[in-house]
Amino acid sequence: MYRIVPREEEGEKLVLRPEGTPNVVRAYLEHGMYVKPQPVKLFYLGPVFRYDRPQAGRFRQFSQAGVEVIGDGGALTDAELIALLWKILGDIGLKGLTVQINTIGELTCRRKYIEKLVEYFEPRKVDLPEEDRLRLKRNPLRILDSKNEKTRAMLSEAPQTVDYLCADCLKHFKEVLEYLDELEIAYDLNPYLVRGLDYYSHTVFEVYGTESGSQSALAGGGRYDYLVELLGGPKTPAVGFAIGLERLIHEVLIQEVSVPEQKISPKVIVIQLGDAAKKLALKIEQQLWAEGIPATSAMGKSSIRAQLKLANKQAIPYALIIGQKEVFSGTVILRDMTDGIQETISLKKYLDVIKKKLGE
Ligand code: AMP
Repeated sequence: MYRIVPREEEGEKLVLRPEGTPNVVRAYLEHGMYVKPQPVKLFYLGPVFRYDRPQAGRFRQFSQAGVEVIGDGGALTDAELIALLWKILGDIGLKGLTVQINTIGELTCRRKYIEKLVEYFEPRKVDLPEEDRLRLKRNPLRILDSKNEKTRAMLSEAPQTVDYLCADCLKHFKEVLEYLDELEIAYDLNPYLVRGLDYYSHTVFEVYGTESGSQSALAGGGRYDYLVELLGGPKTPAVGFAIGLERLIHEVLIQEVSVPEQKISPKVIVIQLGDAAKKLALKIEQQLWAEGIPATSAMGKSSIRAQLKLANKQAIPYALIIGQKEVFSGTVILRDMTDGIQETISLKKYLDVIKKKLGE
């Protein structure tokens, strides 16, 4: 991690964020989202920073887009999330990708397994490269994703996680795989796929692009049933994934995919006249989006004529017009842009009216 060293001893200790998940969980807790109906589904997008050795496909600043589902421990959620990732990558037009999957079980099972793993490697320690000897001491599970050939050869005989899982952990994993079969998502079982931190649990997965090599994972994810509690919240299961955007773009370029243009054409334009109307217009635009109705506005334009012209140019079927009078009376004018017919409706009813019109 990139640490920011405080000038004074008692100064705040900060790091540049190395991933998105803990921040999302922090937001979940800070905003009391555990009292909402569970699970809570969130997404994020932004830069992350890791003090890694830079190389092809491994940067010190890169971008991740991720999804987290917090508050559901069921195997179906794991599969649903993998299916969502698969759909996103498929919709972009990428082909020949592979899903690799493994389970690291719950903490108690995993500890038993780690004991066995250490038992196996201790007498072979002298043959391990320096880096993996360190891993054996500090974080033995990480030996499993060693890229060293000598270590990899030793790993082929090493104990595997699935052999040390309790019945419940095995059941969870089996269910995830069954759901994936049902969803017709092909996967490879990879017993060496792990996550090093204690807050991870059960399912781990990665999606690989068509280039071989350890730097070719386009996305990765898994369960982290202990993180919410670790950050001071109630015991709450969670699962998520993150896509590495630079690697995704690289894959799009080498596969020469022409990314389909996602054109969402607005169905409603919110037209305003005056400052008070502007505020209400903004709120209405947000309400429309929240209801899944694509809406737009031209807050920079002040004349109604200019705004209507824009609506015509973009072939937007409906306009909601708000002036000073409407703000005071709690109404909006709904204008059908095709025939120019207008009606005044109360703010309480406008959503229902628009939905009905769009459904027609
Ligand atoms: P992780 O948070 O390590 O599971 O990473 C999720 C995804 O982010 C990976 O599958 C990569 O696509 C991408 N990624 C991770 N580390 C780097 C890096 N140093 N440079 C570029 N992309 C990365």
